[in-house]
Amino acid sequence: MTEPSRFDAGAPASAGSPVMIQYYEIKRANPGCLLFFRMGDFFELFFDDAVAAAGALDIALTKRGRHDGADIPMCGVPVHTAETYLARLIRAGFKVAICDQIEDAAEARRRGVKGPVRRAVVRVVTAGTLTEEGLLDARRHNYLVGLAEAGGEIGLAWLDLSTGAFALAPSSEPALPGDLARLAPGEILLPERMLTRPALYELLAEWKPVLTPLPNPRFESGMARRRLEDFYGVAALDGFGNFGRAEIAAAGALVDYVGLTQQGRAPYLEPPRRVMPGSVMQIDAATRRNLELVANAAGERRGSLLTTIDRTVTAAGARLLADHLAAPLTLPAAIAARLDAVEYFSHCADQRMALREVLRHCPDLERALTRLSLGRGGPRDLAAMRQSLGETGSLRHTLAEPGLVPLPELLAAARCGLGQHGVLVDRLGRALADELPLFARDGGFIAAGYSDELDAWRRLRDESRRTIAALQARYAAETAIAALKIRHNNVIGYYVEVSASHAGKLRPEFIHRQTMAGAQRYTTVELADLETRIAQAAERALALEQHLYDDLVGEVMARRAEIAGAAAALAVLDLAAALAERAAEGGWVRPAVEAGTAFEIRGGRHPMVEAGLAASGDGGSFVANDCVLAEERIWLVTGPNMAGKSTFLRQNALIAILAQIGSFVPAGAARIGIVDRLFSRVGAADDLARGRSTFMVEMVETAAILNQAGPNAFVILDEIGRGTATYDGLSIAWAALEHLHAVNRCRALFATHYHELTALAAKLPALACHTMRVKEWKGDVVFLHEVGPGAADRSYGIHVARLAGLPTTVTARAEEVLEILEKGEQGGALARLADDLPLFSAALRRADPAPPPESAAEALLRDTRPDELTPRDALDLLYRLKALVTG
Ligand code: ADP
Repeated sequence: MTEPSRFDAGAPASAGSPVMIQYYEIKRANPGCLLFFRMGDFFELFFDDAVAAAGALDIALTKRGRHDGADIPMCGVPVHTAETYLARLIRAGFKVAICDQIEDAAEARRRGVKGPVRRAVVRVVTAGTLTEEGLLDARRHNYLVGLAEAGGEIGLAWLDLSTGAFALAPSSEPALPGDLARLAPGEILLPERMLTRPALYELLAEWKPVLTPLPNPRFESGMARRRLEDFYGVAALDGFGNFGRAEIAAAGALVDYVGLTQQGRAPYLEPPRRVMPGSVMQIDAATRRNLELVANAAGERRGSLLTTIDRTVTAAGARLLADHLAAPLTLPAAIAARLDAVEYFSHCADQRMALREVLRHCPDLERALTRLSLGRGGPRDLAAMRQSLGETGSLRHTLAEPGLVPLPELLAAARCGLGQHGVLVDRLGRALADELPLFARDGGFIAAGYSDELDAWRRLRDESRRTIAALQARYAAETAIAALKIRHNNVIGYYVEVSASHAGKLRPEFIHRQTMAGAQRYTTVELADLETRIAQAAERALALEQHLYDDLVGEVMARRAEIAGAAAALAVLDLAAALAERAAEGGWVRPAVEAGTAFEIRGGRHPMVEAGLAASGDGGSFVANDCVLAEERIWLVTGPNMAGKSTFLRQNALIAILAQIGSFVPAGAARIGIVDRLFSRVGAADDLARGRSTFMVEMVETAAILNQAGPNAFVILDEIGRGTATYDGLSIAWAALEHLHAVNRCRALFATHYHELTALAAKLPALACHTMRVKEWKGDVVFLHEVGPGAADRSYGIHVARLAGLPTTVTARAEEVLEILEKGEQGGALARLADDLPLFSAALRRADPAPPPESAAEALLRDTRPDELTPRDALDLLYRLKALVTG
């Protein structure tokens, strides 16, 4: 309790004081939240809240008053730096209810009622409902996701309060993990009863820190529908799409929650969009991690696919790219439309440069718009509007210049979506000053010349200040005290100050106010009058500025749909130009994306490894490789360690993703039949947090692939089975490969060290063997990083061990052991195994694990000895069999 000002607002003397009673009431009404209770310049927390927050924020826990004979724990954070503390609390998983003073002490006095100033919760801050720049990542969406069940179906809805994005989609238990991985929600709302289902509980375990279970009735679909209709002011939702009941229940709960956390203030939300099932490539969480789509293996952005391809220059463009990357499309026409836009900017490099230069100066419209609509904005948000909307004209102009090719559909639509904002931009341009404060309440942001009345009040205020300076000079002359000063502070306002030794020289009109060490302070009637005039003028000026601010915000709000349209258009333009920029940088090509199961990559490269090699500057360049899956749709890739197998596998999966988000790809040429599901099992890492060993993780992921991949899937499997004993692992890899071939029938790349598997190629018609080429030279091995037909006969593991610095005694002994093992019996045994493929029985087992009872026809056939039949017997047998089958 070092700052007495913390209790200026009438602090509680005891737990039973009026302020504490007010506190209890508000606290009770906001269960599950820390309560930030405004007292003067601080937000104070009490009781358990204080203990929890002090721990999480590492700030001092003090005490205030007593309750039930014990001290009340308390801690607090200054209002002006509250955002930093909020960010930390939200990150630590808390929800915070902000309880503000909604009148000042003077108003409370005028009200005449004794008691504390009025306070109310103005907002509940949760991880999924953030809007402040300081709490958000500018380049990522922060989704609030709703889950609901109705009619036996699961519905999903998501919105980003900070940008207004809003979408719905049907989901299901098997699809849910992938859907959530795609959205990476900041917070998930769901009815309490869903968590009582063990299967769902298990499935949602990894999202536990962001789950917000709510009472079941909030997810009632009828009410949810009405809530959405009210929110959008429509009689029926059908105009937006044909939504399922569960989806509506989820969406309604979201809108309800937004109302609750924003205390009734309505943000701007786009009309809800339905994401059709199957319209995006399904990629599960493990695959996303394995392929390092948005974060590298260490969880950092550096080196991820997103960072490697992101050349956007606006935050909204970056968010759109992250969204697209999370959800590649599956409709060739939609992909082609995006590719057309990128191709356009690839051809028109000058236009692209000009456009990007303009976009670079466009601040974030979407988030500024949300803040303004929630009453949380400030003059700088208006300036963002002026700036970005002001650039729409020059963007339109840039796009109007005749290019080498006509403007493709997506860009033409974006050009149109930029809209016309001349009047608003002009008004904002005239209204806003050059230097802007963060908050409207600080004043000083309206430009001179915009309002005559404001200018008059300001003149008065400033003139009065000049009059004070003149008064000081006059008093100094009249009293012959050259050091006489007129000063100001917030406690006593303006005063005349002279040193103690001069005090006796003053006339009686100087009224004594304060004695300081070595100085005396006075006031005069004249000074007090002047002070009142200054205060009035400043107060009027500030009130008028506030009024003008509200007017401007009102004008922005009246046009929010158009502004949101312009914001969306800016993002589309930025993204298309950025992808073209990236393509130009890396010599990437437009892929042909079509229906079917083609997969033909010529000269493909791995975007991150290639960028890494280029950045390392040691002269090594990436070796491009082909991958052509046709009749032979599964490639078995063998080769030594470090030869580039994983790189090759991943690059093809990444190329498929890039193609389907509508980006050019790092290859000489590419033709890809739509991939509806992508699976990757690469490398192995213990998932200790979830108590699973490497091998268990590997098997869980492999199971997902074998159970779910269909004919349009694309699978990469890297060294499965390596986490267990050799024969165990080999057997699993063997059987998995057969399953992929006979049951899943998808395109797949399968890398392995089990060279024994290459024996399968002779038996499985759709399997082809490829290997990473190496050159042995003077006892050394040189990796060429080239993929060619054939099989490796060795892994060169001992060679790699030598490179890694294992003691020579160990590597020499290993050579000896290897020689003995290689002469062993296993080769013969495995060759026999290859002749006895349980391939078709595997397919049967999958369809129905219990063997069906033998039919009469089968029994007859089993008992027949073909060698002993005469031609006549054979014909009879045929008739009997036919009779048995047709009944
Ligand atoms: P493996 O899976 O066969 O052990 P990796 O795919 O992990 O090998 O590749 C090992 C290293 O080799 C990579 O980190 C990369 O530096 C290099 N490399 C892989 N493929 C290529 C390539 N096509 N061109 C150039 N360097 C490559």
